[in-house]
Amino acid sequence: MRYDVIVVGAGMVGTSIAWHLQKNGSKVLLLDKKLPGSETSYGNAGLIQREAVHTHPFPRQVSQIFRVLPNQGTDIRYRLPALFRYSQALLQYWKYSTPQSVAKIEKEWQTLIEHCTREHQVMIEASGADNLISRDGWLQLHRSEDTLKAAIEAAVRDQEVGVEHKVVSLDELKALEPNANFDDFVGGIHWLNSWQVSNPSALVKAYAKSFEDIGGTLLTLDVTHLEQFEGGWQVTTDGGEQFNADDLVVAAGPWSNHLIKPLGYDLPLFPMRGYHQHFIINHKNSIHHSMFDMDKGFVMGPFQQGIRITTGAEMTLMDAPKNFGQLETVLRYARRILPLDEAVESEAWAGSRPCMPDMKPVIGAANKHEHLWFAFGHSHQGFTLGPVTGRIMEELIHKKPVLVDVKPFNADRFGN
Ligand SMILES: Cc1cc2nc3c(=O)[nH]c(=O)nc-3n(C[C@H](O)[C@H](O)[C@H](O)COP(=O)(O)OP(=O)(O)OC[C@H]3O[C@@H](n4cnc5c(N)ncnc54)[C@H](O)[C@@H]3O)c2cc1C
Repeated sequence: MRYDVIVVGAGMVGTSIAWHLQKNGSKVLLLDKKLPGSETSYGNAGLIQREAVHTHPFPRQVSQIFRVLPNQGTDIRYRLPALFRYSQALLQYWKYSTPQSVAKIEKEWQTLIEHCTREHQVMIEASGADNLISRDGWLQLHRSEDTLKAAIEAAVRDQEVGVEHKVVSLDELKALEPNANFDDFVGGIHWLNSWQVSNPSALVKAYAKSFEDIGGTLLTLDVTHLEQFEGGWQVTTDGGEQFNADDLVVAAGPWSNHLIKPLGYDLPLFPMRGYHQHFIINHKNSIHHSMFDMDKGFVMGPFQQGIRITTGAEMTLMDAPKNFGQLETVLRYARRILPLDEAVESEAWAGSRPCMPDMKPVIGAANKHEHLWFAFGHSHQGFTLGPVTGRIMEELIHKKPVLVDVKPFNADRFGN
């Protein structure tokens, strides 16, 4: 059977693209080797981050480099094999992280972020998933007056780009979260127009169900080969099944390069791993808001599965064994905030953020083949940006006027 479009990857990004295309008249096949939202879009911190108007540059100041070098920090750790494997991408990341470059990148990035809640809302309504969403914002906690002061100054500036906040004292934090112990903190920021999702995987599954309800086809198959074929594309799976379409979208998150390298693309996509573990919720540790310990770099949030503790980043190979050091360190800090007695799983989850050196996703046409499209590399905010990416891809493929200028997100910006 021939489809109009095949989308490979049913994470938040691919599912949103498939939904938008199907909704606007294309006959779409969505393929994933697992159920929708089972990988990175399962394990994240569940925040739809309207406040995320800044990117995550590579440390360039000497003081920052000395802080990171011992590799014992809670927010970021580097493993040697990954440093060698991704040295070129990291060098580019370092180059893109000058203040001038970051200022330009953030302007482009904000053209996506500004639409994030509105575009999620369209899909939440269509899929009847409102029960998974809390619109009370989330809390950023600070342990030092210096970091809090700098964060408040930035938050005031960010009002200009639509980010709403309230500075919260310790008393106000306590009123918002009576079960939490804020003894180690000096205050925080309540991000007011960001949303929190109680089960990120369930939200992707709801969007995928809505895609099927409007006639889309979803199949659980491992894609092994992509080939241009008779004016369109042929996709082959590990079981030998073949599917044809006019257009092909690769939205396979951190695995995207595996699929497109045989076609001659070598984009500097690299993984940044994160871990999470759930703890059983009881009357002494229940909380209403996700809380981000800014100085120690971890998030604790109320999820359907329990209190989810998510770590910062570990630069490691995709298939490297799990290293629980970073999670164990943050758990010591987390347990001072809330009693986390009983873990839900015996082993923590790990998954990789798909990152690009210039901190922007790749969204748009592939530059060496007709009717081939890329949508990956959303790094720390792919869960937030899935629906807006879906809308943009639909507009591009259907040759409509596009919501944002997509030039900054082109695949050919790295020169191959
Ligand atoms: C710890 C952590 C916390 C995070 N917190 C947040 C947050 O609060 N907010 C936010 O916005 N973002 C957050 N992120 C980032 C976000 O989760 C990712 O950017 C986003 O999930 C990426 O979505 P995706 O659809 O591109 O990739 P994925 O969700 O990984 O989906 C890719 C899909 O492709 C499929 N696939 C791959 N290869 C093949 C193949 N050969 N055949 C078939 N299928 C294939 C995979 O099975 C997978 O389902 C966090 C990430 C981590 C790790």
